[in-house]
Amino acid sequence: MPPLQIARFPESVLTKKSKPIKLVTSHERELLDKMLETMYLNQGIGLAAPQVGVSKRAIVVDAGEGPISLINPIVVQKRGQEAGKEGCLSLPEVMVEIKRAQWIKYRGLDGEGKLVEREAEGLLARAIQHEVDHLDGKLIIDYANPIKRIFLKRRLIKNRRS
Ligand code: ZN
Repeated sequence: MPPLQIARFPESVLTKKSKPIKLVTSHERELLDKMLETMYLNQGIGLAAPQVGVSKRAIVVDAGEGPISLINPIVVQKRGQEAGKEGCLSLPEVMVEIKRAQWIKYRGLDGEGKLVEREAEGLLARAIQHEVDHLDGKLIIDYANPIKRIFLKRRLIKNRRS
């Protein structure tokens, strides 16, 4: 099974709002498995479906505590705040400091279509918040101040051409 291609800024799929998944079938399970494989291959700790060109609400995360696959994930509760530098496989060579909740409660469907509700903190909480942002078309550069954002966008487009 070949790994999936990672969409890179400024591909439009990255800034679109992804569609909810109505039914979890073997097709979705296969997508999640391929996303995990692609994430590990690229040494990422999270990947959202739009990052592989699929505008659907599915994410995978592994922040060192084992793989998590989620369909239609939402963050239902947040606590605390912590600043940390984040990168993104779709925005290579760019790091942005982002303040995120230190603790979250999240909800979604697993690969079997079963409802899961769990808590996460630290890096895992950060990774989940980052991936859920992707489903709403929100990228790490959107957290940078307007001047830095212009600079980062130019650099990304320039890197892509070279
Ligand atoms: Zn990302």
